[in-house]
Amino acid sequence: MSSQHNSLQSWNTFGLDAHAANLDVATSAESLLQSWQQSLLHNQPVLLLGEGSNILFLEDFSGRVIINRIKGIQIEEDQHHWQLHIGAGENWHNLVQVLLEKGIPGLENLAMIPGCVGSAPIQNIGAYGVELKDVCAYVDVLDLNTGEVERLTAAACQFGYRDSIFKHQYQLGYAIVAVGLVLNKQWRPVMTYGDLRALDPQTVTPQQIFDAVCAMRSSKLPDPAIAGNAGSFFKNPVVTAEAAEAIRTAYPTLPAYPQADGRVKLAAGWLIEQCELKGVSVGGAAVHQQQALVLINKEKATGSDIVALAHEVRQRVGTKFNVWLEPEVRFIGAQGEKDAVGVIA
Ligand code: NAP
Repeated sequence: MSSQHNSLQSWNTFGLDAHAANLDVATSAESLLQSWQQSLLHNQPVLLLGEGSNILFLEDFSGRVIINRIKGIQIEEDQHHWQLHIGAGENWHNLVQVLLEKGIPGLENLAMIPGCVGSAPIQNIGAYGVELKDVCAYVDVLDLNTGEVERLTAAACQFGYRDSIFKHQYQLGYAIVAVGLVLNKQWRPVMTYGDLRALDPQTVTPQQIFDAVCAMRSSKLPDPAIAGNAGSFFKNPVVTAEAAEAIRTAYPTLPAYPQADGRVKLAAGWLIEQCELKGVSVGGAAVHQQQALVLINKEKATGSDIVALAHEVRQRVGTKFNVWLEPEVRFIGAQGEKDAVGVIA
């Protein structure tokens, strides 16, 4: 554990210049626990962070930020599978690359997702037809009140669309310390999205999928090093079939994806684009030109600028389509997480 300078600017991909009362980098479960105990001693709120790629600081954080940098990539195999045990503080994209270099495919559709391995289960990261839940065997969580590590099976994690038990019962008082993945040696490419559909299923390689995903992401998504952002700012809304049909009557090109439960997923980015919001800015915050679902820190934005822009986007989309967008990004106030919908409503 090491105490660092308390600016959070390099610890959130929005690049917002917030500060914390204390900032620790934990490289083991033991040091993470020690930091937690310090916070109890000082009666402070705690925020556990990986790379800060899915959060918005609304203001300075009055407590202790603990950065999880628990490392380690262990690989075992049997006849049919690779079993991986990964430290929560490993960088996700680096893991995807390392595995591919070792000839272990299965994560290529999830290339270039910002953040740490330990953050991946929290929102069940997903992209281009693959979700973490498809490859997750277990998640190891440290119970910060008892100091015990508990192993949750994938079923116990209650994975849903950008959701898991780690946003609910296991949100407070627990830290993810490792993630277990299982990858099938019989590789099955997933080629249902975008440019992947153009690849030849007979000859396609994991590297080709990786390259195509990286190319698609690079062309649409802003590099946080250039324009701070937290990826998709809003969740894709899931509405009733009747509601989707009503919108389609007025807008026949509406992209809509039927779900197993009979409801229909709409593309939030498309809805925002139809409101002619691409490039629109409030203060230093703007809707990204290439991908309307992403809000960016264009120039020295504050948390308030981004909130005001998110409010504007939600109102414009809600008024036009009667679909009320909800943030996927988590909002952090001085004392901890806030209800993001409540903040922008
Ligand atoms: P896109 O291809 O422009 O499509 C817009 C939305 O429609 C996607 O979000 C996707 O929903 C849905 N969609 C597209 N093709 C689909 C299909 N064949 N079957 C089912 N649903 C389909 O999306 P994009 O913004 O460029 O993103 C590409 C992928 O990367 C998506 O899976 C997206 O979720 C993921 N991504 C996530 C983040 C994040 O921060 N969470 C940021 C960038 C991209 P789904 O989201 O359900 O896949």
